[in-house]
Amino acid sequence: MLRLLDAHCHLQDPRILSKAPHLIKTAQDTGVAYFAVNGVSEQDWHSVKQLAETYPSVIPCFGLHPWFVKERSPNWFQTLKEYFDSTPSAAVGEIGVDKGSHGKKIDFSEQIEVLRQQLELAKELNKPASVHCVRAFGDLLELMKFLGPFPAGVILHSYLGSAEMVHEFSKLGAYFSFSGFLMSLKASKAKKMLKMVPPDRILLETDAPDALPMSNIDSLYFVEGDTSLTEELLAQTTTSSTSGSSLGNSSHVLADASMLPKETLNHPANIHNVLDYVASMLEITKEELAELSYQNAVRLLSYEGSKVLQK
Ligand SMILES: [Zn+2]
Repeated sequence: MLRLLDAHCHLQDPRILSKAPHLIKTAQDTGVAYFAVNGVSEQDWHSVKQLAETYPSVIPCFGLHPWFVKERSPNWFQTLKEYFDSTPSAAVGEIGVDKGSHGKKIDFSEQIEVLRQQLELAKELNKPASVHCVRAFGDLLELMKFLGPFPAGVILHSYLGSAEMVHEFSKLGAYFSFSGFLMSLKASKAKKMLKMVPPDRILLETDAPDALPMSNIDSLYFVEGDTSLTEELLAQTTTSSTSGSSLGNSSHVLADASMLPKETLNHPANIHNVLDYVASMLEITKEELAELSYQNAVRLLSYEGSKVLQK
């Protein structure tokens, strides 16, 4: 069986936390050995810590995501440092900058300042950091050049930046992690960018419960109890070919996940769909890519105190 490491997900997310035991078990049964679970704000760091204490496969990550910069408490940075003191197995994340439709509502200089503090902390602690970046790659690169290099590594999660910037980021210690969001890029653009990424810097992730891969519905795992999936919708997807003969192709109403509501939750076992897609773009086998990305993730996540053991 293939072995995989989900380099970035959010099993603590309130939308799926109660389902986490089942999601972890299902994904593990498909070969996912570890999950890097990223906290996003002071509100959810305790859930991340709790998951990590319960499941040997959960690698905790603590960080303040740019979307939650406004709500941070005056003590947020002290609290964050305390989480690292009490959780040696933790990495840093999710941190970042965002000038997208949601992020542009949040003061950018504050986003940069919060990111700077956390990147410096990651450096000081000698731990990798998982970074979110939307429409702000120039700003991120400038900050990373100023603070870097990052010998413990920086994960550019759900990377959708340009092919041209890959080299500059990798010189500073960046790894490039790909999720279902990659399928939103034009295939030719995704291919060009993927081929620029050094093979020893490729990672795979789900970003679950977000980033449902736009794959064929029959090939996806869904989260039990997902309210966006109505009985009617599920009936259509599961009985699409009942009649077979007379209705012909027209009976295949729902072919791929782009026809599902955009709130449909992603399942961590769908890392296989990301694997298949990235492998096809790189024109290598999924077995090769699984092992390559697994080894990269293990190397990156083998910092002092980590649960991940280099084998
Ligand atoms: Zn994320």
